[in-house]
Amino acid sequence: MEVINRYVAIKAQIDGVPKESDFELKNQKFSLSIKRGSKDIIIKNLYVSIDPYHVNQMKTTGTLGRTIVPGEVISSYGVGKVIASGNPRFAKGDYVVGNISWGEYSISKGFFLRKLDPMGLPLSYHIGVLGLSGLSAYVGFFDICKPKRGENVFVSAASGSIGNLVGQYAKLLGCYVVGCAGSPEKVQLIKEKLGFDEAFNYKEETDLNLALQRYFPNGIDIYFDNVGAEMLEAAISNMNLYGRVAVCGAISEYTDSKKHVKLDMLSIIYRRITIQGFITPDYMNLFPEFVSKTVDYIRAGKIHVLEDVMIGIESVPSAFVGVFHGNNVGKRIVKISDD
Ligand code: NAP
Repeated sequence: MEVINRYVAIKAQIDGVPKESDFELKNQKFSLSIKRGSKDIIIKNLYVSIDPYHVNQMKTTGTLGRTIVPGEVISSYGVGKVIASGNPRFAKGDYVVGNISWGEYSISKGFFLRKLDPMGLPLSYHIGVLGLSGLSAYVGFFDICKPKRGENVFVSAASGSIGNLVGQYAKLLGCYVVGCAGSPEKVQLIKEKLGFDEAFNYKEETDLNLALQRYFPNGIDIYFDNVGAEMLEAAISNMNLYGRVAVCGAISEYTDSKKHVKLDMLSIIYRRITIQGFITPDYMNLFPEFVSKTVDYIRAGKIHVLEDVMIGIESVPSAFVGVFHGNNVGKRIVKISDD
């Protein structure tokens, strides 16, 4: 059987801040059956992840990793249901999570795709809190920053998908936690709903260094960086001896080619600061441990799940563009179809 698959593509490479008009909804004929002898998996997409890093693959110059080509299907993390499979690891009716696409259907060879047991939790959780966003928070905080109870932790983009979880993990460990975010509503949510000790709106601060001195009179032990540039510079200026910085993302630099962090190397040397970047898929060995602990926290009501779900394949461009304007609260997801 053949259907029309609607998918989202870029019209041309994108440099700078993406706009909805940079994208188009395309149609392709799509077979729902498997050719004899093929190992392909045909998937009905249910939820797709919206991630800032995609913008780096849409640029003219390209960055690390693959370049997204105009007109072509864009691969993305997501959850779907198998419609047909020639691959012995997957059967019709299985839920799957991993590499699918910004479309209504995906075809996969099984690369970076696994069978999903929803464990009685909403399917969308397996993209955000129990997906790569959650793993990024877990790896960056526990494995890279090696936190200790009572330490002072700072998180940027703290109401976002990864940031909100870092702050919640840090509170559960017994740290003093401060987050920054881009609106008064987000600041209120971080403090009142997520239980951070303090939060501030970085857009209202004229001097980020002074803002951090105010919230960290005893200095910062751990900085979980989601934004790069000036915020990273200010955090370094306020780090304690043997401070650790996990560089997860640098969203403020992705769409502004003139913006680059200027590191104070003398502070880094004399205060023995460790700064480490990381790529989450390198840490899939920690996935079972992360899922087990995080599911327990969710079931015990100790982790609050923050999701921001938009509906329909047509909303992918606005969902994606909105992330660069801070429109999302928690993990941004697009629900493509009912189960
Ligand atoms: P997110 O925080 O849910 O969404 C991005 C948030 O960043 C926005 O809501 C906005 O919040 C903030 N933002 C947008 N433009 C900004 C700017 N110019 N300056 C400062 N803040 C800005 O996104 P996420 O998925 O959790 O990702 C967070 C970071 O981790 C991103 O940099 C992402 O690329 C990175 N990441 C890294 C890995 C890895 O393997 N290392 C994996 C996934 C994601 P405000 O309203 O607070 O400004």
